[in-house]
Amino acid sequence: MNAMKTGSSVLMKEIILLKHGELALKGLNRHTFEELLMKSIRRRLAGLGRFGVTTAQSTVTVEPLEESADTAQAFERLKCVFGIAGLSRAAAVEKDIGVILPAACEYMRGELSAARTFKVEAKRADKKFPLASPEICRLTGEALLGAYPHLTVDVHDPDVTVTVEIRDEYAFIHGSQQKGAGGMPSGSAGKAAVLISGGIDSPVAAWMMAKRGLELVAVHFASPPYTGEMALQKVFDLLSRVARYSGRITLFVVPFAEIQEHIRDCCHKELFTLVMRRFMMRIASDIAAEEHCGALITGESVGQVASQTIQAIACTDAAARLPVFRPLIGMDKEDVISIARRIGTFDISTLPYEDCCTVFTPKHPRTRPQIALVEKAEEPLDVDGLVGRALAGKTVHAVHARGAAAPAAERNGGTLDGGL
Ligand code: ATP
Ligand code: MG
Repeated sequence: MNAMKTGSSVLMKEIILLKHGELALKGLNRHTFEELLMKSIRRRLAGLGRFGVTTAQSTVTVEPLEESADTAQAFERLKCVFGIAGLSRAAAVEKDIGVILPAACEYMRGELSAARTFKVEAKRADKKFPLASPEICRLTGEALLGAYPHLTVDVHDPDVTVTVEIRDEYAFIHGSQQKGAGGMPSGSAGKAAVLISGGIDSPVAAWMMAKRGLELVAVHFASPPYTGEMALQKVFDLLSRVARYSGRITLFVVPFAEIQEHIRDCCHKELFTLVMRRFMMRIASDIAAEEHCGALITGESVGQVASQTIQAIACTDAAARLPVFRPLIGMDKEDVISIARRIGTFDISTLPYEDCCTVFTPKHPRTRPQIALVEKAEEPLDVDGLVGRALAGKTVHAVHARGAAAPAAERNGGTLDGGL
């Protein structure tokens, strides 16, 4: 047990309380949402020791079941789980007011020493407990004022709110709740494939859609020998940051140099990027369909570059066989960067390794392409053959929340590359 002795020899166990997010609103689907949330929570706790995870009344309780269980690390990981609106660490103590009061004084020391004002809230889920909520509040408030005479009570805008909850097995004591990752539990909105580059935008787009409950598959186009191992490593590192929130991501790496060389040799320079994007859409659509994804995700936003004008996006969309989600479509780069910093992808995205998009990029791309013109430009290309060969050369990887990628089972003729 994560137990500690207080000044009055009260045995406390530290647990974590999680408040459900938006899923509280979901009526009949609520049960499914709750199950997915519990699954995400259990997965994120893997490797940190044994924990009991239970749910009741829009709250999930995470309780360490062995001394070595790492509650502090569990708390950090759970801050990133979508579907959780708020979380707090709490002391679980015997349901006896003679135990609760000294435990509250002891457990809240850190927060209350730094505060000037506080209030106490009590929730009595166990109606058999002999004291009513106002009485619990009054007694706890008096005990805390006695222990910390510098404090005053402010019921409207306190620095710290101390909550005492009387549950079935224990009384919980905790301070102010921290903000959770919000959003919806992973998988509750289905599955989508993100086209991930090494840039700033696509990891943010992936994170935003994962927040809405989409499970992620990722597709990256790599162009060796024009792009190197470090560029690929960057993609693994970016996804492992996103996976802290979304959970494990299956990544498909698709060889793209042959396609780019053919476009360079056969198509007008000014259409190069657009024709290339359309190949990305075709290949990603195939992979997505095989992986049972309902949509593609990109990091495009209107007007960012020539290939992201309305006309260019229309041409790109025409080659996709699934809806394309572009969560950054109306965002300024600055806003994207601030999310990238918050989720820890920015410093990786700005490492200076070549991406396939910077290979052969024309100086003067066409900004208002017509679809007929683009289709005509593609006529000399063996589209099906190029797509087929690229798909045959793809490799499959499992990217986990922390550290580097772990190898996934070999699939679809792909090879394993667990070393990255
Ligand atoms: P990002 O948009 O991620 O910052 P970028 O600016 O280099 O990267 P753009 O040229 O803006 O990329 O590409 C637009 C979108 O196309 C990306 O957001 C991404 O979804 C997709 N994309 C670009 N390059 C690749 C790639 N090598 N592999 C997979 N998808 C890519
Ligand atoms: Mg971009």
